[in-house]
Amino acid sequence: MKTVAGQADGAYRFPRRRMVTKLVKQYGLRDKRVLAALERIPRHLFVPEHLVNEAYSDRALPIGCGQTISQPYIVARMTAELDVGDEDSVLEIGAGSGYQTAILATLARRVYSIERVGRLAREAIGRIQALQLPNVKIQVFDGTVGWSSAAPFDRILVAAAAPRAPDALLDQLAPDGRLVIPEGDRDEQRLIDYRKHRNGVVERRVGEPVRFVPLIGRHGWKKTAAAP
Ligand code: SAH
Repeated sequence: MKTVAGQADGAYRFPRRRMVTKLVKQYGLRDKRVLAALERIPRHLFVPEHLVNEAYSDRALPIGCGQTISQPYIVARMTAELDVGDEDSVLEIGAGSGYQTAILATLARRVYSIERVGRLAREAIGRIQALQLPNVKIQVFDGTVGWSSAAPFDRILVAAAAPRAPDALLDQLAPDGRLVIPEGDRDEQRLIDYRKHRNGVVERRVGEPVRFVPLIGRHGWKKTAAAP
């Protein structure tokens, strides 16, 4: 587990620990590396200032531009599902606040994250830099086409909901790779877990119901009034 800059371990350490304890009790989460990452990354630095007091409740919160920081349980769940190894190269679609990105950065060798909203990406980059997580690259473009120059990826996490996993992302998955994505319509989805076997065969498993903001782009949904 990589270290993060000093402020992470100072303020809000107790609320953060309480949040993790609750997640363990309520959902039976057991992945120690993931729980340690949640205990380490200061979620209060990823929410708007007026919501800092809500930062350690198990809720998604608005981050501006019609988007949300994901619920801690969902971040834990998706990260555990991916089973990220410390040599893995990970692609994330939808950096948003950068919170999930930071969690992945403490577990993986390298994290590439794509965000389509420039303002959110700039803010996320600032937070990642403040935490001194050097193994992260965030860029602004439509993530439904993937990041071909950095492919293949051992793990791919899509943090916005699509009708179906974009083919480009499945193509950019390495052998033995895993991809987690919420698939469904705009209002409700299920968490889908794809596994690419060494022989190239892709297995698809349907998981629990979830609610995410839409993945907007060439191989996702069309633009909405709420999202710029
Ligand atoms: N996990 C993030 C929240 C992600 S919300 C966090 O914890 O903060 C989903 C994000 O996906 C939003 O910021 C949205 O702008 C972004 N998004 C939607 N479609 C996208 C696309 N095609 N490419 C990249 N990012 C996209």
